[in-house]
Amino acid sequence: MFQRTLRKLTMLNAGVFLLIFILFGYLVYGYVAHQLFSDVDDALRYKMEATHLVNGQIHLIANQPWLLDPQVFLFLRDSDGNSIPYHPASLADLNELQTFIMQMKSNPLKVQKINEHLYRVLAMPFTAEQQVLLRPDGSEAKIVQVIALTRIDSEVAMLKKLLNTLVASLIMGVLAIAIAAYFLAKRALVPIKASWDKQQQFVADASHELRTPLAVIKSNTELLLRHPEHTIEQESIRITNVLREAMRMKKLVVTLLTLARADASQLELQKIPFNIGEVIADVVEQFIPLAEIKGVQLKFSVDGVNEIEADKERLLQLFAILLDNALKYTSNEGTILIHCYQNANFVVIRIEDNGCGIAPEDLPHVFDRFFRGDKARSRESGGAGLGLAIADWIVKQHGGKIQLESELGLGTKIEICLPVKSV
Ligand code: ADP
Repeated sequence: MFQRTLRKLTMLNAGVFLLIFILFGYLVYGYVAHQLFSDVDDALRYKMEATHLVNGQIHLIANQPWLLDPQVFLFLRDSDGNSIPYHPASLADLNELQTFIMQMKSNPLKVQKINEHLYRVLAMPFTAEQQVLLRPDGSEAKIVQVIALTRIDSEVAMLKKLLNTLVASLIMGVLAIAIAAYFLAKRALVPIKASWDKQQQFVADASHELRTPLAVIKSNTELLLRHPEHTIEQESIRITNVLREAMRMKKLVVTLLTLARADASQLELQKIPFNIGEVIADVVEQFIPLAEIKGVQLKFSVDGVNEIEADKERLLQLFAILLDNALKYTSNEGTILIHCYQNANFVVIRIEDNGCGIAPEDLPHVFDRFFRGDKARSRESGGAGLGLAIADWIVKQHGGKIQLESELGLGTKIEICLPVKSV
Protein backbone atom coordinates (compact mmCIF):
# COMPACT_ATOMS: atom_id res chain seq x y z
CA MET A 1 0.00 0.00 0.00
CA PHE A 2 2.80 2.41 0.90
CA GLN A 3 4.72 1.43 -2.28
CA ARG A 4 1.92 2.84 -4.43
CA THR A 5 1.71 6.00 -2.32
CA LEU A 6 5.50 6.34 -2.51
CA ARG A 7 5.36 6.04 -6.31
CA LYS A 8 2.56 8.58 -6.57
CA LEU A 9 4.23 11.00 -4.17
CA THR A 10 7.55 10.68 -6.02
CA MET A 11 5.83 11.48 -9.31
CA LEU A 12 4.02 14.41 -7.78
CA ASN A 13 7.22 15.79 -6.23
CA ALA A 14 9.13 15.31 -9.48
CA GLY A 15 6.33 17.04 -11.40
CA VAL A 16 6.39 20.02 -9.03
CA PHE A 17 10.19 20.25 -9.17
CA LEU A 18 10.16 20.04 -12.94
CA LEU A 19 7.52 22.71 -13.18
CA ILE A 20 9.49 25.00 -10.87
CA PHE A 21 12.63 24.33 -12.89
CA ILE A 22 10.91 25.08 -16.21
CA LEU A 23 9.28 28.19 -14.78
CA PHE A 24 12.60 29.37 -13.42
CA GLY A 25 14.29 28.74 -16.80
CA TYR A 26 11.49 30.56 -18.57
CA LEU A 27 11.85 33.54 -16.24
CA VAL A 28 15.65 33.66 -16.63
CA TYR A 29 15.38 33.39 -20.40
CA GLY A 30 12.61 36.01 -20.54
CA TYR A 31 14.51 38.40 -18.30
CA VAL A 32 17.79 38.12 -20.27
CA ALA A 33 15.94 38.49 -23.60
CA HIS A 34 14.05 41.51 -22.30
CA GLN A 35 17.24 43.15 -21.04
CA LEU A 36 19.09 42.53 -24.29
CA PHE A 37 16.31 43.83 -26.53
CA SER A 38 15.48 46.78 -24.34
CA ASP A 39 19.13 47.95 -24.64
CA VAL A 40 18.95 47.52 -28.42
CA ASP A 41 15.60 49.35 -28.61
CA ASP A 42 16.98 52.22 -26.51
CA ALA A 43 19.88 52.58 -28.95
CA LEU A 44 17.44 52.61 -31.89
CA ARG A 45 15.15 55.16 -30.29
CA TYR A 46 18.00 57.42 -29.23
CA LYS A 47 19.37 57.60 -32.74
CA MET A 48 15.93 58.22 -34.25
CA GLU A 49 15.21 61.02 -31.82
CA ALA A 50 18.59 62.57 -32.64
CA THR A 51 17.72 62.69 -36.38
CA HIS A 52 16.97 66.25 -37.56
CA LEU A 53 16.91 68.13 -40.85
CA VAL A 54 18.88 71.37 -40.95
CA ASN A 55 18.71 73.37 -44.18
CA GLY A 56 17.64 70.29 -46.09
CA GLN A 57 20.53 68.19 -44.77
CA ILE A 58 20.41 65.36 -42.24
CA HIS A 59 22.08 66.02 -38.90
CA LEU A 60 22.25 63.91 -35.77
CA ILE A 61 21.72 66.27 -32.87
CA ALA A 62 22.05 64.30 -29.68
CA ASN A 63 22.37 65.32 -26.02
CA GLN A 64 25.10 62.78 -25.49
CA PRO A 65 26.60 62.12 -28.94
CA TRP A 66 28.86 59.37 -27.58
CA LEU A 67 25.72 57.28 -26.97
CA LEU A 68 24.90 57.22 -30.67
CA ASP A 69 25.47 53.62 -31.66
CA PRO A 70 27.37 53.39 -35.00
CA GLN A 71 25.78 49.96 -35.56
CA VAL A 72 22.31 51.51 -35.80
CA PHE A 73 21.37 52.26 -39.38
CA LEU A 74 18.89 54.93 -40.36
CA PHE A 75 16.51 55.30 -43.27
CA LEU A 76 14.22 58.19 -43.98
CA ARG A 77 11.02 57.77 -45.92
CA ASP A 78 9.53 60.57 -47.96
CA SER A 79 5.88 61.27 -48.66
CA ASP A 80 6.14 59.35 -51.97
CA GLY A 81 7.18 56.19 -50.10
CA ASN A 82 10.84 56.26 -51.19
CA SER A 83 13.40 55.24 -48.62
CA ILE A 84 16.54 57.28 -48.29
CA PRO A 85 19.45 55.57 -46.56
CA TYR A 86 21.32 57.82 -44.23
CA HIS A 87 23.83 55.75 -42.41
CA PRO A 88 24.22 52.35 -44.04
CA ALA A 89 26.95 53.44 -46.45
CA SER A 90 29.27 50.55 -45.74
CA LEU A 91 26.53 47.97 -45.34
CA ALA A 92 26.62 45.02 -47.71
CA ASP A 93 22.92 44.38 -47.25
CA LEU A 94 21.89 47.86 -48.36
CA ASN A 95 19.76 46.67 -51.28
CA GLU A 96 17.95 44.07 -49.23
CA LEU A 97 17.39 46.55 -46.42
CA GLN A 98 15.99 49.07 -48.83
CA THR A 99 13.69 46.47 -50.40
CA PHE A 100 12.49 45.49 -46.95
CA ILE A 101 11.84 49.10 -45.97
CA MET A 102 9.99 49.79 -49.20
CA GLN A 103 7.65 46.89 -48.42
CA MET A 104 7.27 47.81 -44.75
CA LYS A 105 3.81 49.18 -44.10
CA SER A 106 3.10 49.59 -40.43
CA ASN A 107 5.28 51.05 -37.69
CA PRO A 108 6.59 47.84 -36.24
CA LEU A 109 9.10 47.02 -33.63
CA LYS A 110 10.18 43.61 -34.71
CA VAL A 111 12.88 41.14 -35.51
CA GLN A 112 13.40 40.59 -39.19
CA LYS A 113 15.71 38.25 -41.11
CA ILE A 114 17.27 40.10 -44.00
CA ASN A 115 19.92 38.38 -46.11
CA GLU A 116 21.02 35.84 -43.47
CA HIS A 117 21.20 38.49 -40.75
CA LEU A 118 18.73 39.20 -38.01
CA TYR A 119 17.72 42.82 -37.54
CA ARG A 120 15.74 44.67 -34.93
CA VAL A 121 13.63 47.23 -36.78
CA LEU A 122 11.91 50.31 -35.34
CA ALA A 123 9.91 52.85 -37.36
CA MET A 124 8.49 56.17 -36.12
CA PRO A 125 6.73 59.10 -37.76
CA PHE A 126 9.17 61.92 -38.48
CA THR A 127 7.93 64.84 -36.40
CA ALA A 128 10.97 67.15 -36.37
CA GLU A 129 10.45 70.88 -37.02
CA GLN A 130 11.99 70.90 -40.49
CA GLN A 131 10.73 68.10 -42.68
CA VAL A 132 12.18 68.99 -46.10
CA LEU A 133 15.24 67.14 -47.37
CA LEU A 134 17.19 68.36 -50.39
CA ARG A 135 17.99 65.53 -52.76
CA PRO A 136 21.40 65.50 -54.53
CA ASP A 137 19.59 66.58 -57.73
CA GLY A 138 18.26 69.67 -55.88
CA SER A 139 14.63 68.47 -55.67
CA GLU A 140 12.80 68.52 -52.35
CA ALA A 141 11.46 65.50 -50.44
CA LYS A 142 9.06 65.69 -47.51
CA ILE A 143 10.23 63.23 -44.86
CA VAL A 144 7.41 61.46 -43.03
CA GLN A 145 9.02 58.50 -41.33
CA VAL A 146 12.30 57.54 -39.80
CA ILE A 147 13.33 53.88 -39.59
CA ALA A 148 16.17 52.54 -37.51
CA LEU A 149 17.58 49.03 -37.58
CA THR A 150 20.48 47.18 -36.17
CA ARG A 151 21.87 43.68 -36.41
CA ILE A 152 21.07 41.48 -33.48
CA ASP A 153 22.91 38.33 -34.56
CA SER A 154 25.12 38.32 -31.48
CA GLU A 155 22.19 38.89 -29.11
CA VAL A 156 20.17 36.09 -30.70
CA ALA A 157 23.20 33.78 -30.65
CA MET A 158 23.63 34.54 -26.97
CA LEU A 159 19.99 33.75 -26.28
CA LYS A 160 20.31 30.52 -28.24
CA LYS A 161 23.31 29.56 -26.12
CA LEU A 162 21.37 30.37 -22.95
CA LEU A 163 18.45 28.26 -24.15
CA ASN A 164 20.77 25.36 -24.96
CA THR A 165 22.36 25.61 -21.52
CA LEU A 166 18.95 25.66 -19.85
CA VAL A 167 17.71 22.66 -21.85
CA ALA A 168 20.95 20.74 -21.18
CA SER A 169 20.75 21.44 -17.45
CA LEU A 170 17.09 20.41 -17.49
CA ILE A 171 17.98 17.07 -19.09
CA MET A 172 20.76 16.50 -16.57
CA GLY A 173 18.54 17.83 -13.79
CA VAL A 174 15.73 15.34 -14.54
CA LEU A 175 17.73 12.50 -12.99
CA ALA A 176 18.68 14.60 -9.97
CA ILE A 177 15.05 15.72 -9.67
CA ALA A 178 13.81 12.11 -9.79
CA ILE A 179 16.27 11.06 -7.06
CA ALA A 180 15.47 14.09 -4.86
CA ALA A 181 11.72 13.52 -5.37
CA TYR A 182 12.06 9.87 -4.35
CA PHE A 183 13.99 10.65 -1.17
CA LEU A 184 11.65 13.47 -0.21
CA ALA A 185 8.63 11.25 -0.75
CA LYS A 186 10.26 8.51 1.30
CA ARG A 187 10.97 10.94 4.13
CA ALA A 188 7.48 12.38 4.03
CA LEU A 189 6.05 8.89 4.37
CA VAL A 190 8.01 8.03 7.53
CA PRO A 191 5.69 9.83 10.02
CA ILE A 192 2.62 8.75 8.04
CA LYS A 193 3.75 5.13 8.16
CA ALA A 194 4.55 5.42 11.86
CA SER A 195 1.13 6.85 12.60
CA TRP A 196 -0.52 4.19 10.41
CA ASP A 197 1.34 1.44 12.27
CA LYS A 198 0.30 3.03 15.57
CA GLN A 199 -3.30 3.15 14.43
CA GLN A 200 -3.17 -0.48 13.34
CA GLN A 201 -1.70 -1.43 16.70
CA PHE A 202 -4.42 0.60 18.45
CA VAL A 203 -7.20 -1.19 16.56
CA ALA A 204 -5.60 -4.58 17.22
CA ASP A 205 -5.19 -3.83 20.94
CA ALA A 206 -8.71 -2.43 21.23
CA SER A 207 -10.21 -5.51 19.54
CA HIS A 208 -8.16 -7.73 21.78
CA GLU A 209 -9.37 -5.89 24.89
CA LEU A 210 -12.99 -6.13 23.74
CA ARG A 211 -12.69 -9.81 22.87
CA THR A 212 -12.10 -10.94 26.46
CA PRO A 213 -15.25 -9.43 28.05
CA LEU A 214 -17.26 -10.54 25.03
CA ALA A 215 -16.02 -14.11 25.47
CA VAL A 216 -16.88 -14.02 29.19
CA ILE A 217 -20.39 -12.69 28.46
CA LYS A 218 -20.91 -15.31 25.75
CA SER A 219 -19.80 -18.27 27.88
CA ASN A 220 -21.80 -17.14 30.92
CA THR A 221 -25.02 -16.63 28.93
CA GLU A 222 -24.55 -20.03 27.25
CA LEU A 223 -24.30 -21.62 30.68
CA LEU A 224 -27.40 -19.73 31.80
CA LEU A 225 -29.34 -21.07 28.82
CA ARG A 226 -28.36 -24.64 29.64
CA HIS A 227 -30.49 -24.51 32.78
CA PRO A 228 -33.68 -22.59 32.01
CA GLU A 229 -35.27 -24.02 35.12
CA HIS A 230 -32.74 -22.30 37.45
CA THR A 231 -33.83 -19.26 39.40
CA ILE A 232 -32.06 -15.89 39.21
CA GLU A 233 -30.75 -16.51 42.70
CA GLN A 234 -29.22 -19.81 41.62
CA GLU A 235 -27.54 -18.16 38.65
CA SER A 236 -26.61 -14.94 40.40
CA ILE A 237 -22.85 -15.55 39.96
CA ARG A 238 -23.14 -15.90 36.18
CA ILE A 239 -25.46 -12.91 35.92
CA THR A 240 -23.01 -10.87 37.99
CA ASN A 241 -20.19 -11.98 35.68
CA VAL A 242 -22.13 -10.82 32.63
CA LEU A 243 -22.95 -7.49 34.28
CA ARG A 244 -19.36 -6.91 35.39
CA GLU A 245 -17.96 -7.62 31.93
CA ALA A 246 -20.63 -5.43 30.30
CA MET A 247 -19.62 -2.59 32.64
CA ARG A 248 -15.97 -3.19 31.85
CA MET A 249 -16.74 -3.06 28.14
CA LYS A 250 -18.73 0.12 28.54
CA LYS A 251 -15.84 1.76 30.38
CA LEU A 252 -13.42 0.61 27.73
CA VAL A 253 -15.57 1.87 24.86
CA VAL A 254 -15.97 5.27 26.55
CA THR A 255 -12.20 5.47 27.04
CA LEU A 256 -11.52 4.46 23.45
CA LEU A 257 -13.96 7.08 22.23
CA THR A 258 -12.22 9.73 24.34
CA LEU A 259 -8.86 8.81 22.82
CA ALA A 260 -10.24 8.70 19.28
CA ARG A 261 -11.81 12.12 19.74
CA ALA A 262 -8.61 13.45 21.29
CA ASP A 263 -6.67 12.17 18.27
CA ALA A 264 -9.09 13.87 15.92
CA SER A 265 -8.83 17.10 17.99
CA GLN A 266 -12.58 16.95 18.54
CA LEU A 267 -12.39 17.33 22.30
CA GLU A 268 -12.51 20.89 23.50
CA LEU A 269 -11.65 21.84 27.05
CA GLN A 270 -14.30 23.75 28.96
CA LYS A 271 -12.06 25.98 31.04
CA ILE A 272 -13.36 27.70 34.12
CA PRO A 273 -11.58 29.13 37.18
CA PHE A 274 -11.86 26.94 40.30
CA ASN A 275 -10.00 25.84 43.40
CA ILE A 276 -7.97 22.77 42.53
CA GLY A 277 -7.49 21.84 46.22
CA GLU A 278 -11.25 21.40 46.59
CA VAL A 279 -11.48 19.27 43.44
CA ILE A 280 -8.73 16.92 44.64
CA ALA A 281 -10.37 16.76 48.08
CA ASP A 282 -13.62 15.64 46.35
CA VAL A 283 -11.83 12.85 44.47
CA VAL A 284 -9.98 11.75 47.62
CA GLU A 285 -13.31 11.65 49.43
CA GLN A 286 -14.68 9.20 46.86
CA PHE A 287 -11.67 6.92 47.28
CA ILE A 288 -11.68 6.82 51.09
CA PRO A 289 -14.18 3.92 51.40
CA LEU A 290 -12.29 1.87 48.80
CA ALA A 291 -9.00 2.58 50.56
CA GLU A 292 -10.49 1.59 53.90
CA ILE A 293 -11.74 -1.71 52.49
CA LYS A 294 -8.23 -2.38 51.17
CA GLY A 295 -6.59 -1.24 54.40
CA VAL A 296 -4.67 1.53 52.64
CA GLN A 297 -4.15 4.93 54.23
CA LEU A 298 -5.01 8.00 52.16
CA LYS A 299 -3.35 11.26 53.30
CA PHE A 300 -4.16 14.54 51.60
CA SER A 301 -2.63 17.96 52.25
CA VAL A 302 -2.84 21.25 50.43
CA ASP A 303 -0.64 24.37 50.81
CA GLY A 304 -2.45 27.56 49.85
CA VAL A 305 -2.89 27.13 46.11
CA ASN A 306 -4.36 29.76 43.79
CA GLU A 307 -7.40 29.23 41.63
CA ILE A 308 -6.57 27.73 38.30
CA GLU A 309 -8.32 28.00 34.95
CA ALA A 310 -8.92 24.51 33.64
CA ASP A 311 -11.48 21.91 32.58
CA LYS A 312 -12.88 20.71 35.92
CA GLU A 313 -14.40 17.49 34.56
CA ARG A 314 -11.14 16.48 32.88
CA LEU A 315 -9.14 17.18 36.03
CA LEU A 316 -11.59 15.10 38.07
CA GLN A 317 -11.01 12.31 35.54
CA LEU A 318 -7.22 12.80 35.78
CA PHE A 319 -7.08 12.51 39.59
CA ALA A 320 -9.51 9.59 39.55
CA ILE A 321 -7.18 7.71 37.16
CA LEU A 322 -4.09 8.45 39.27
CA LEU A 323 -5.72 7.62 42.61
CA ASP A 324 -7.28 4.49 41.12
CA ASN A 325 -3.81 3.35 39.96
CA ALA A 326 -2.20 4.20 43.31
CA LEU A 327 -4.86 2.19 45.10
CA LYS A 328 -4.77 -0.68 42.60
CA TYR A 329 -1.02 -1.11 42.86
CA THR A 330 -0.68 -0.55 46.61
CA SER A 331 -1.14 -3.57 48.83
CA ASN A 332 -2.75 -3.72 52.27
CA GLU A 333 -1.24 -1.54 54.97
CA GLY A 334 0.21 0.75 52.33
CA THR A 335 0.00 4.55 52.27
CA ILE A 336 -0.90 7.02 49.55
CA LEU A 337 0.17 10.64 50.02
CA ILE A 338 -1.42 13.39 47.99
CA HIS A 339 0.14 16.82 48.30
CA CYS A 340 -0.85 19.94 46.44
CA TYR A 341 1.12 23.22 46.53
CA GLN A 342 1.83 26.41 44.61
CA ASN A 343 5.16 26.87 42.79
CA ALA A 344 5.41 30.27 41.04
CA ASN A 345 2.79 30.19 38.28
CA PHE A 346 2.18 26.49 38.61
CA VAL A 347 0.14 24.28 40.88
CA VAL A 348 2.02 21.07 41.68
CA ILE A 349 0.15 17.91 42.63
CA ARG A 350 2.16 14.97 43.91
CA ILE A 351 0.70 11.50 44.38
CA GLU A 352 3.03 9.10 46.10
CA ASP A 353 2.39 5.49 47.02
CA ASN A 354 4.49 2.75 48.56
CA GLY A 355 2.98 0.03 46.42
CA CYS A 356 4.57 -2.51 44.09
CA GLY A 357 6.35 0.07 41.91
CA ILE A 358 7.23 -0.31 38.23
CA ALA A 359 10.08 -2.33 36.72
CA PRO A 360 12.77 -0.07 35.15
CA GLU A 361 12.26 -1.66 31.70
CA ASP A 362 8.53 -0.80 31.87
CA LEU A 363 9.00 2.84 32.90
CA PRO A 364 9.45 4.28 29.36
CA HIS A 365 6.21 2.62 28.24
CA VAL A 366 3.74 3.39 31.02
CA PHE A 367 2.19 6.31 29.08
CA ASP A 368 1.76 4.17 25.92
CA ARG A 369 -1.74 3.09 25.03
CA PHE A 370 -2.66 -0.41 26.17
CA PHE A 371 0.59 -0.84 28.05
CA ARG A 372 0.19 -2.92 31.17
CA GLY A 373 3.09 -3.63 33.43
CA ASP A 374 1.93 -6.95 34.70
CA LYS A 375 -0.69 -8.09 32.20
CA ALA A 376 -2.38 -10.74 34.32
CA ARG A 377 -2.57 -8.58 37.45
CA SER A 378 -3.79 -5.49 35.63
CA ARG A 379 -6.56 -7.31 33.84
CA GLU A 380 -7.65 -8.81 37.12
CA SER A 381 -7.75 -5.34 38.67
CA GLY A 382 -9.69 -3.96 35.71
CA GLY A 383 -7.06 -1.95 33.82
CA ALA A 384 -6.77 -1.93 30.06
CA GLY A 385 -3.57 0.10 30.04
CA LEU A 386 -5.27 3.31 28.89
CA GLY A 387 -5.41 5.29 32.14
CA LEU A 388 -1.99 6.94 31.98
CA ALA A 389 -2.35 7.62 28.22
CA ILE A 390 -5.48 9.64 29.00
CA ALA A 391 -3.88 11.29 32.04
CA ASP A 392 -0.94 12.36 29.85
CA TRP A 393 -3.31 13.79 27.23
CA ILE A 394 -5.31 15.77 29.83
CA VAL A 395 -2.17 17.31 31.38
CA LYS A 396 -0.67 18.22 27.99
CA GLN A 397 -3.97 19.75 26.83
CA HIS A 398 -3.70 22.09 29.82
CA GLY A 399 -0.12 23.04 28.95
CA GLY A 400 1.18 21.16 31.98
CA LYS A 401 3.75 18.44 32.67
CA ILE A 402 3.43 14.96 34.13
CA GLN A 403 6.41 13.06 35.55
CA LEU A 404 6.57 9.57 36.94
CA GLU A 405 9.27 8.06 39.12
CA SER A 406 9.11 4.55 40.42
CA GLU A 407 11.18 1.85 42.03
CA LEU A 408 10.17 -1.76 41.88
CA GLY A 409 8.95 -2.92 45.27
CA LEU A 410 9.24 0.55 46.85
CA GLY A 411 6.51 2.63 45.28
CA THR A 412 5.62 5.21 42.67
CA LYS A 413 5.60 9.02 42.65
CA ILE A 414 3.67 11.03 40.07
CA GLU A 415 4.09 14.79 39.87
CA ILE A 416 1.84 17.04 37.83
CA CYS A 417 2.49 20.72 37.16
CA LEU A 418 -0.45 22.72 35.88
CA PRO A 419 -0.18 26.37 34.89
CA VAL A 420 -2.43 28.66 36.90
CA LYS A 421 -3.53 30.42 33.74
CA SER A 422 -4.05 27.65 31.22
CA VAL A 423 -2.78 28.22 27.66
P1 ADP B 1 -3.91 0.30 33.84
O1 ADP B 1 -5.31 0.50 33.48
O2 ADP B 1 -3.37 -1.02 33.47
O3 ADP B 1 -3.60 0.69 35.25
P2 ADP B 1 -2.45 2.64 33.16
O4 ADP B 1 -2.23 3.28 31.82
O5 ADP B 1 -3.17 3.44 34.15
O6 ADP B 1 -3.15 1.27 32.86
O7 ADP B 1 -1.06 2.21 33.71
C1 ADP B 1 -0.15 1.53 32.87
C2 ADP B 1 0.74 0.63 33.68
O8 ADP B 1 1.58 1.43 34.52
C3 ADP B 1 0.00 -0.25 34.62
O9 ADP B 1 -0.38 -1.48 34.00
C4 ADP B 1 0.99 -0.49 35.73
O10 ADP B 1 1.87 -1.54 35.37
C5 ADP B 1 1.79 0.78 35.75
N1 ADP B 1 1.36 1.69 36.85
C6 ADP B 1 0.64 2.82 36.73
N2 ADP B 1 0.47 3.42 37.92
C7 ADP B 1 1.13 2.68 38.84
C8 ADP B 1 1.35 2.76 40.24
N3 ADP B 1 0.86 3.76 40.99
N4 ADP B 1 2.08 1.79 40.82
C9 ADP B 1 2.61 0.78 40.12
N5 ADP B 1 2.43 0.64 38.77
C10 ADP B 1 1.71 1.56 38.12
